[in-house]
Amino acid sequence: NYQQATFLTSAPDIRVLPPDEGIEVAFAGRSNAGKSSALNTLTRQKSLARTSKTPGRTQLINVFQLTEQQRLIDLPGYGFAKVPLAVKEKWQRSLSEYLEKRVSLKGLVVLMDIRHPLKDLDQDLIHWAVASKLPVRLLLTKADKLSPGPRKKALLEVSEAALAFMGDVQVQLFSSLSKQGLPELEQALAQWFYP
Ligand code: GDP
Repeated sequence: NYQQATFLTSAPDIRVLPPDEGIEVAFAGRSNAGKSSALNTLTRQKSLARTSKTPGRTQLINVFQLTEQQRLIDLPGYGFAKVPLAVKEKWQRSLSEYLEKRVSLKGLVVLMDIRHPLKDLDQDLIHWAVASKLPVRLLLTKADKLSPGPRKKALLEVSEAALAFMGDVQVQLFSSLSKQGLPELEQALAQWFYP
């Protein structure tokens, strides 16, 4: 019941997240991939995750509470050109550490614009998750931006590429605009939250 999601805290660093208990699912993606929109769509809230037109604005980790023992983690968007290299490297280190060490983390949703999937940083992230035995759900976002033919083609191509990661990497279409893929996403999350 994602409508119940409430904002719990913003963490500047992965080390200051709430205690590592219960179950959490993290959302990650390049800036502008449609992550805030997807979180708002999932939780049926207009502005739970701030949808920003300015890429890279959300540098904090936002934690949303579903129940006392269930959380959604909104990781900062990556791949924004204007972030200094040192900051990027520090972020990448702490992100891979989070994926590796966080016990309550049971699944990772990686959002990618259907028109620009599997960029280098997306691939890095998926590799880290697979190496940590973390199941991954790839969301091809803004699916409404393509007509049915190209949409299906993109899904097929990314599904094939997903196999090469040699882990539990599932792919689906998603659109916050048309709500395509919302039931599918909810089902996937339910498997992580209610194993
Ligand atoms: P974030 O940076 O990953 O949080 O991305 P946002 O959710 O802020 O979305 C970035 C831009 O893409 C905004 O202009 C959104 O309105 C737009 N957008 C997000 N989701 C969709 C979608 O499903 N369909 C369409 N057409 N546009 C979307």
